[in-house]
Amino acid sequence: MGLNDSSPGAMRNGRGLSDQWAESVVVRPRTTERHITVHKKLVLGFALSILTLIIVTAVAVVLSVRYEECGTRDGPPEVGSRAAGGSARLNGSRDRATDRGEEEVQPWRTSRLPGTLRPRHYELRLAVCMDNFTFSGDVSIEIECVNATRFIVLHTDRLEVDRVSVTAEGSGGGRLTNRPGGGVMRIHRHFAFPLNQMYVVVLHRELKPMRLYRLNISFDAAIEDELLGFFRSSYTLHREKRYLAVTQFSPIHARKAFPCFDEPIYKATFSLTLRHDPQYLSLSNMPVESSVLTEEDGWVTDRFSRTPRMSTYYLAWAVCNFTYRETQTDSGVTIRLYARPDAISSGAGDYALHITKRLLGFYQDYFQVQYSLPKLDLLAVPKHPYAAMENWGLNVFVEQKILLDAEVSSSSYQMELTMVVVHEICHQWFGDLVTPVWWEDVWLKEGFAHFFEYVGTDFLFPKWNMEKQRFLTDVLHEVMLLDGLSSSHPISQEVQQATDIDRVFDWIAYKKGAALIRMLANVMGQPLFQKGLNDYLLSHMYSNAARDDLWNKLSQAMRSEGRDIDIGEMMDRWTLQMGYPVVTISKNQSEQLPTHYIIVSQEHFLYGQDPRSNNSLQWQVPLTVAVGNASMISTEKLIWINNKTEMHRIGEVHENTWLLGNINQTGYFRVNYDLQNWKLLIQQLHSNPQIISIGNRAGLIDDAFNLARAGYIPQNIPLQLIGYLPEESSFLPWHAASRVLYQLDKLLDRTDEYSLFSDYVLKQVASRYHQMGWPSPGPGNEGNILQASYQTEELQRELIMLACSFGNKQCHRQAVAYISDWISSNKNRIPPNIRDIVYCTGVSLMDEDVWEFIWMKFHSSGAVSEKKILLEALTCSDNTFLLNRLLNLSLSSDLVPEQDVIDVIIHVGRNPQGRDLAWKYFREKWDILNARYGEALFMNSKLIGGVTEFLNTEKELNELKEFIQNSGVGAGPALPRALEIVEGNVRWHRLHRRQFYQWLRKPQNSNGFNG
Ligand SMILES: [Zn+2]
Repeated sequence: MGLNDSSPGAMRNGRGLSDQWAESVVVRPRTTERHITVHKKLVLGFALSILTLIIVTAVAVVLSVRYEECGTRDGPPEVGSRAAGGSARLNGSRDRATDRGEEEVQPWRTSRLPGTLRPRHYELRLAVCMDNFTFSGDVSIEIECVNATRFIVLHTDRLEVDRVSVTAEGSGGGRLTNRPGGGVMRIHRHFAFPLNQMYVVVLHRELKPMRLYRLNISFDAAIEDELLGFFRSSYTLHREKRYLAVTQFSPIHARKAFPCFDEPIYKATFSLTLRHDPQYLSLSNMPVESSVLTEEDGWVTDRFSRTPRMSTYYLAWAVCNFTYRETQTDSGVTIRLYARPDAISSGAGDYALHITKRLLGFYQDYFQVQYSLPKLDLLAVPKHPYAAMENWGLNVFVEQKILLDAEVSSSSYQMELTMVVVHEICHQWFGDLVTPVWWEDVWLKEGFAHFFEYVGTDFLFPKWNMEKQRFLTDVLHEVMLLDGLSSSHPISQEVQQATDIDRVFDWIAYKKGAALIRMLANVMGQPLFQKGLNDYLLSHMYSNAARDDLWNKLSQAMRSEGRDIDIGEMMDRWTLQMGYPVVTISKNQSEQLPTHYIIVSQEHFLYGQDPRSNNSLQWQVPLTVAVGNASMISTEKLIWINNKTEMHRIGEVHENTWLLGNINQTGYFRVNYDLQNWKLLIQQLHSNPQIISIGNRAGLIDDAFNLARAGYIPQNIPLQLIGYLPEESSFLPWHAASRVLYQLDKLLDRTDEYSLFSDYVLKQVASRYHQMGWPSPGPGNEGNILQASYQTEELQRELIMLACSFGNKQCHRQAVAYISDWISSNKNRIPPNIRDIVYCTGVSLMDEDVWEFIWMKFHSSGAVSEKKILLEALTCSDNTFLLNRLLNLSLSSDLVPEQDVIDVIIHVGRNPQGRDLAWKYFREKWDILNARYGEALFMNSKLIGGVTEFLNTEKELNELKEFIQNSGVGAGPALPRALEIVEGNVRWHRLHRRQFYQWLRKPQNSNGFNG
């Protein structure tokens, strides 16, 4: 999972909070000033009221007992006003002075906790009632006072607080006493402040610095029906509906389950006790220490071991009647996978269990830091707001991301699932053990976990070559699309409000984070990078860290080898500025200088603006350059680009040598060249592509198409470039090509001359498609899919997908034959890896009976991966009546799982026949959709992106504008982004479409060059 934030004042730049906890949290200039003012007023007020005080003392003592009674009742407005009014009236000027002070300070009015107190340990006791979905709890928090205060401010949300008490711990260390300085503290009043999801306890006397106190709160709450806090979901076993309840606390939902200091910096230890009906079992971060059956009510009380210090949002528990399988690591960590009993007995969890065991070993070796807990549970739940959540020792996954039925699952499904597991296990170090100080640096954990998805998967399956290859298309190319918009934002972004936090869980945090970390790892070299990470984890374990803490450790690692690079200075350019540069490399044209000089310039790459208009942003670019000719390429040279334009010396450059930048695409930027160099590179690809690395071939494709789309280079360059594809035998460049071609397809498929484009694509695809053919039929024929050659399978799959979707007749016939065979024999002999393509093609070409057949299979299939692709296939029909029916069934019945509804709408939008329908349906149902998914911004923004990205006419642009004006409030950044993308689409049509088709109309020679 991931988030991002900024705090007022001290945490703006995210520096050094971990080491100077008290200073950085507490000392905010404004607060300090306020404290001084308040103090003066308190003293003055006290002096003036001293006489009155003597007179009313007796009355006050009597009445204060009554306030205690009032004060302990719940309900903020009545309690607050009654108690406050009462004290002013009855205690006279002394309390008026105090109240004035209170009004001025009122730390609960600030969106962040005041930092005067620090929780050390939570003793949390919960009784969970699954019959009526409620729970009641008692929390006892040991608190250390950092700065004197009368206010205890912490978080609650939706909790019904029952009793509150505060005691001072005696100096005897831990035990409550009634000695002087110890004992019960009188509470002036306590109330909820819902605006900031806070609960406030106002005391009569100040808490003293360096002293320990204990805050006890009892409360009741509901087990929610939405996917936040402590929530419930259900599944069917033997036709019987069963329930389970599980937590999702990240980012700010722990406060919905118990009163707590719910900011990541407030790490503490937790001892949890769960009481529940014995037909369920309970799970939490730590193992069960004791389990006792109570005679009277027959309930079980499970007490879990005390956790290490950790943030509130990593606490987790679950109550369910799942079963499990388990394994053990060499170092004695018990790993269990819990799931529905039928999934466990079918072995669907075994794969994840197996790789988790290997991954724990991998990360321990890589980071040189042991896994911290005695056990790790993986819990597969039917419903979850995210793919998974990395709660320490209790990772929760949605079933589709952890259960694998090897017989029917495609390798891409398996790859996706593997990467989710690799991601969450990485978080046990980057996240659980060392936690970002505040949400502005959420990318510190999410970027790492996302980067390690590729590194860890390479460990499991070295042949997949993920980090060198798939990373480029799935992370780098993907995020550069988003980050090239002027509506993008810096990866470290300020977070003021609790409501802003969800907003920062986006691809910029995950994917740009990962891309920047990869760039840095490549600049540093693997051994130094690993050394720096080890030092960082050891220095901040069980604590928090900000990005500067990381930069410092990485810089130290570099210095230890005599390389003096200020990593913080370099990386600030990349993390505090939005976007990325396009670096233009050209040969020196001037006669004055020798030819082995090159000119390099950088500018902010933007899709939507005149490239020359925004010159303000600059980066420190680690540019690698190589020089090549028809038969060889030089070794790369690293050049640091700090200025707008620079001149650099490079090896011998001749008329027929070409320059290539960003070797293996390790850098987070695009590269452009002068036209002559583009021409030489294209010729090279046509004549002998292997001279250029696979990563760079994919990079050239992605850069060329995107530079053309943004208007930096003529439209014919990318088209000429992909003319070499018949020579391409590797998966990655094909994958890069298909991504940009599908992008273009969305722009073009409703234009008159569309067939010029699709014919050109089919021409490039045909020979390689026929050569690779189709996989041999039937599941299981090729043995274990883990052993199959991933690269070959994926290339074959990619070519079939391109051929079928752009209209290759033979491809269509093959797909139809497979579906007909399935229907007539009732045996599915379609190879798992291409089932989604075959189903979709079949549904789009064949009659309504096939749609009904797939719909029926969707209901009867038990395998989650199969269900998913059957549902997607239903969106491929070109019958708008059927599409409409599907959309309505999805939203208004429970035939389609709630989390899949959005995918149905998006997939209808991906179908050229369904585009108008999806766009219309989205607008009509916006109120319902927004009510249901609005809070899960990640889903919401996926939906908005999915139904608008293909809009490309003035009319549609106006429709979008109108929609935003009428109903788009509160949808987060997704709508401005959608607007910018659609404006870009419209502009491309206006400026470039004619040139694009013009080139396609000309006859081309075999090289793809116009004659
Ligand atoms: Zn994550």
